[in-house]
Amino acid sequence: MKIIEFKCPHCGADLTVEEGRSTLFCQYCGGKLVLDEFDKKTVRIINDAELEKVKAEKELTIAKIEYRIKRNKTIQKIGAALLIVSAVLFGIAIVSGEKIMEGPFTLFGLYSTIAGFIMIIPRDPTKEDDSDKNGD
Ligand SMILES: [Zn+2]
Repeated sequence: MKIIEFKCPHCGADLTVEEGRSTLFCQYCGGKLVLDEFDKKTVRIINDAELEKVKAEKELTIAKIEYRIKRNKTIQKIGAALLIVSAVLFGIAIVSGEKIMEGPFTLFGLYSTIAGFIMIIPRDPTKEDDSDKNGD
């Protein structure tokens, strides 16, 4: 493990940290230090409130994406079920000799096909959508 040396920006004390660690407390003054991800030798001091806010926002974004992935899967399952239903409806229409678009089986079969295809199209879970506007 590589050890990085630097000076505490609060009190000037010489400190060391293992490479890969991103936050630590100065053992001399107790100041919280955050090591920059891009250059481990530069030390940034981040206000705790700001850090908590960023963390909370990140967690909220992840929660939203997870929710959308789950919901999209459910929508696709319903879409797939509707396509099966429409196939059954068209089958019944053919067997019963129903004229196209004149009886209930072909009509509902058509609606079911359209709805099924709309629902089965993959959606981007990272995109904001209508369900987010109801929250907050
Ligand atoms: Zn210090």
